[in-house]
Amino acid sequence: MYIDEIVLENFKSFAGTTRIPFYEDFTTISGPNGSGKSNIIDAVLFSLGLARTSGMRAEKLTDLIYNPAHEDAEGTSGPAEASVEVVLNNEDDTLSRSQVTTAAGSDSVGDVDTITVKRRVKRTDDNYYSYYYLNGRSVNLSDIQDLLAQAGVAPEGYNVVMQGDVTGIINMTAGERREIVDEIAGVAEFDAKKGDAFDE
Ligand code: ATP
Ligand code: MG
Repeated sequence: MYIDEIVLENFKSFAGTTRIPFYEDFTTISGPNGSGKSNIIDAVLFSLGLARTSGMRAEKLTDLIYNPAHEDAEGTSGPAEASVEVVLNNEDDTLSRSQVTTAAGSDSVGDVDTITVKRRVKRTDDNYYSYYYLNGRSVNLSDIQDLLAQAGVAPEGYNVVMQGDVTGIINMTAGERREIVDEIAGVAEFDAKKGDAFDE
């Protein structure tokens, strides 16, 4: 499974609709400072529910909505809604049809050779809302996380290595580094279950 394309709508510095194609094996994104490279990674984290708001370099979720006055202190004259859709190529059946239908809570998910995960954030006068969709079906964050975990994509799995992570890992104790290896190898899950069993 790999990312085929991401579709941004009014996400951070990307006004209007922006489609960004990815290659199967390797894709690099280059551009001047401040041109939006990291915002593209933030978009993936946002859509797949892989990071807290601070992890996407925002104070609050609504700061992720394109704001033409972003550099000004409190201007919010822009659109009231942003969304990001991540289009996954699942032609290799990394995720089975039944895994997808279970997560979506519906059989009508279309062809699962393509899996789309979309998240929207919407601002109202006094509140904000966040919605997730799996192949067009409205779902919860936990449905997305459970599904992606079955493909080895998890918030704690270092699928996305952020700026600063490498230094963080270098500065860890050997024990802490071992915990990361356990997490990536999938051993941590069993350690947790073993711990629970001993507690009982
Ligand atoms: P660098 O090479 O320095 O790492 P980059 O290409 O990774 O740069 P980003 O951090 O992705 O750049 O983009 C930063 C830009 O995004 C800043 O100019 C900032 O003003 C803009 N930006 C962030 N949030 C918003 C928003 N909600 N609306 C408009 N622009 C935004
Ligand atoms: Mg950057």
